[in-house]
Amino acid sequence: MSKSPKRADSPLKYQRVLLKISGEALMGDREYGLDAGMVAQIANDVAKVRSLGVDVCLVVGGGNIFRGVSGAARGMERAQADYMGMLATVINALALQNALDNIGCDTRVQSAIPMSTVAEPYIRRRAVRHMEKGRVVIFAAGTGNPYFTTDTAAALRASEMGCDVLLKGTKVDGVYDSDPAKNPNAKRYDTLGYMRVLTDDLGVMDHAAISLARENAIPILVFSIYKPGAFAEVLAGEGCFTLVKNEE
Ligand code: UDP
Repeated sequence: MSKSPKRADSPLKYQRVLLKISGEALMGDREYGLDAGMVAQIANDVAKVRSLGVDVCLVVGGGNIFRGVSGAARGMERAQADYMGMLATVINALALQNALDNIGCDTRVQSAIPMSTVAEPYIRRRAVRHMEKGRVVIFAAGTGNPYFTTDTAAALRASEMGCDVLLKGTKVDGVYDSDPAKNPNAKRYDTLGYMRVLTDDLGVMDHAAISLARENAIPILVFSIYKPGAFAEVLAGEGCFTLVKNEE
């Protein structure tokens, strides 16, 4: 699969990357919904990486608006609630697209649930072509199937797009051996094997996502999306992060 040629002056180690942005990240300090400042900050970070000549695609979550499991817990049919969750991710995708548009970054939203008036349908080869043309592709509606998560969608799209790395932006700057918010001596792992993450249930992403990334040998880079500029920084191998990859 062709990728944009790596620029000779690029400080970054990767040519094509997928960033998974959870709905929670877009919420900032709010209890629900979208925080415009946080959306703008993430858009800036994405545009910065794109301007360094890296192909960028995004998968957005929807947990800031609706989660299928919560709906099911309140008595809804799970599949129906999951479709609502997928629609929530479309709202977030459009918000991110708007923020990227505002700063002149060219984007396309592709939805796994066809919604032709607001987004393109998901077409793999077309998404690749967009990236080759320098556009940021935002994947919405997860996998399009209930009972899955946007983490799994991220691993799936990263595999389909031939990404060199899957980035998981979280609140903390990597994976720790205990909760760094509670234990000041918590230690951050620099690297971890996929199997270790699965067997110790380290909560990096759900098991389906980790297994898919492992099968396709796509490393998962966990970093803090809350820190402005961190996206470009970690792609250059700097700053704080944990890299999940094959055991040596
Ligand atoms: N969802 C789904 N299939 C998918 C992706 C997402 O059914 O392929 C639904 C599911 O109900 C989930 C919701 O969409 O709770 C929002 O996605 P997710 O919880 O992964 O978002 P995040 O936690 O990243 O904000």
